Amino acid sequence: MCFWGTIEQRVKLFMNWLYQRSIVCLAAILGVFLTLFITVVHCIVTFWFSGGISIFDVIQPLCYGALLTPFVVFFFSQIFSDVEKARVQIKDMKKSLAKTYVAMINQRDRNLTLTKDHEVLRGQKQKVEKELEEQATFFSAIVDLTPDIILYRDAAGRIKGCNDNLLRLLGTKSAAQLVDVLKDDHDLDDIFAKFDDILKQNNSDVTYEGTINGVVYQMRKRPAVNAEGELIGIMLYGHDITKLKYEQDLLEKTSRDKSNFISTLSHELRTPLNGIVGLSDILMQTGHFSGNDMRNLKAINVSAVTLGNIFNDVIDLNKFERQTFTVIYSPVNWQDFIDDFETLSHLMTEQKNLDFSFSVEGKVEKYLLLDPTRLRQILWNLTANAIKFTKEGGITITVKQQMVGDEADVSFTITDTGIGIAKEEQDKIFGLYYQVEGTKQATGTGIGLHVTKNYCEAMNGSIGIDSDLGRGSSFTVSFKFKKCEYKEETQQIKKRLNVLLVEDVELNILVAKTMLEKLGNRVFVAKTGREAIDIFAKEKLDVALLDMQLPDMTGFDVADTYVEKMQGKVPLIALTANVINDPKEYERHHINGVMNKPLSLSKLVENLQKYQG
Ligand code: ADP
Repeated sequence: MCFWGTIEQRVKLFMNWLYQRSIVCLAAILGVFLTLFITVVHCIVTFWFSGGISIFDVIQPLCYGALLTPFVVFFFSQIFSDVEKARVQIKDMKKSLAKTYVAMINQRDRNLTLTKDHEVLRGQKQKVEKELEEQATFFSAIVDLTPDIILYRDAAGRIKGCNDNLLRLLGTKSAAQLVDVLKDDHDLDDIFAKFDDILKQNNSDVTYEGTINGVVYQMRKRPAVNAEGELIGIMLYGHDITKLKYEQDLLEKTSRDKSNFISTLSHELRTPLNGIVGLSDILMQTGHFSGNDMRNLKAINVSAVTLGNIFNDVIDLNKFERQTFTVIYSPVNWQDFIDDFETLSHLMTEQKNLDFSFSVEGKVEKYLLLDPTRLRQILWNLTANAIKFTKEGGITITVKQQMVGDEADVSFTITDTGIGIAKEEQDKIFGLYYQVEGTKQATGTGIGLHVTKNYCEAMNGSIGIDSDLGRGSSFTVSFKFKKCEYKEETQQIKKRLNVLLVEDVELNILVAKTMLEKLGNRVFVAKTGREAIDIFAKEKLDVALLDMQLPDMTGFDVADTYVEKMQGKVPLIALTANVINDPKEYERHHINGVMNKPLSLSKLVENLQKYQG
């Protein structure tokens, strides 16, 4: 390219050079011809007028010609050069004109494009503006139509705008009027300004409740922040939760009512139930009955225990629902616990004429720390189910136990030869109110296993099931219980005690009096607080058992009167149906111990022994 370019340029230069020289040559040739022509004309004219010519006549014009020719050549070349210059200038001008023209054309095109772009942009801008306007209308319609309230304030807390609903709620017509109202109503102003400082401090949302003109709002505030992260305003959004609040309150009240009802019912039913259990226990132990009478007595006892346990399930289910359930640990004589469980489960299987086998493998410490009531409930639920769903065969209960360090690993396996549970049902049966299809004809509530599972979890234990449909089921519960020290008094009461029993319910009096007398004590009964105070004054007593709810005064009143006014020294033991009480409350009223109803013989012995002297 460079090579050819060079040759081309050279050819051009040469042609140019030749072109310029040719003009000069042509001028020279023209000069020569002109000289010759002038010479010839001069010779002819000279010959014409003088009749001859000399050499001088020839040489003279030649010399003039020779002298003139360079001037002619110079003259022509000069003219040519000027013409050439002019030509080049014209060419350059043409070129520059063409360039200018092209530039103008391009500029025009560009301008045209710009105009077009501008038009397109203007169109787009208008479209966006229209859309924005539509959206603004749309949003302002939403903001105004919403049943909620919306308020916008700047960073200094000055009101900048609000929605129609807020204006309507406060009976104002404009945001400016609202500002005036808030100037006078500081309480209302406080509702809007509440937690502004926290919002500014944390630069995050805050939520609270506020009541305006009887309407409860859930207020939600959000900081409005610009691109630089500076707070430019505070958005407040209040959602009407009056109905929700009302329903929540109603729900809570219903739940409270339900709990109160359950606890009242349980309290009321426990008294007669405890009477049946306590008295049938005493009757069974006195050994006055045999044969059918004894069987009936056992049935009465087991039925009453069953009813009590169903109540326990219902009460604790309510506690699980209200998340108020707590495990109550106490030292338990493990062997006694196992023996009691064996006795009760044997009694239960006897009712249905089923085979019964009970075995214990391994050994653990004498005292373990556990919740005996709830563990008893778990075992009762599983045993009751095993018996309920078994028509033939029997129930086998295996207790496995061993000490691992400070803890006793214990497991109870309750196996039956009953209807069994299909694999796909085995997870479901722990659900609340779940009963396997086809087993509903058996009595039941569908809450036993649910409560049992909850108990196990609360006691850090586990429950497992192994069952074959038609062949029987096996439920295993396992726990780890800490060993503990406990000073247990001997079960024998050495000294006959003078006991004051302050109790107003006849059946309770019967149970407690029978138990106390069976243990060889002398019993004084007071059915009111007044009677109790009289007996305190008259008799020489060793201990008093005090019911907490008497017709004329509370147990606490009796205790306060006796200790503070009468300077009484006889130890007082409270009798209460409430499972959990604050021990400090009893201490404050000079009460030395608490016994839960139903009275159990062993608990009674244990408590009375402290006052044997
Ligand atoms: P229920 O009061 O109905 O016994 P549970 O919660 O104790 O309520 O048991 C739920 C369901 O699990 C029972 O209705 C029954 O269908 C099934 N079930 C529980 N234990 C057994 C068992 N040992 N054998 C067969 N089915 C059982």
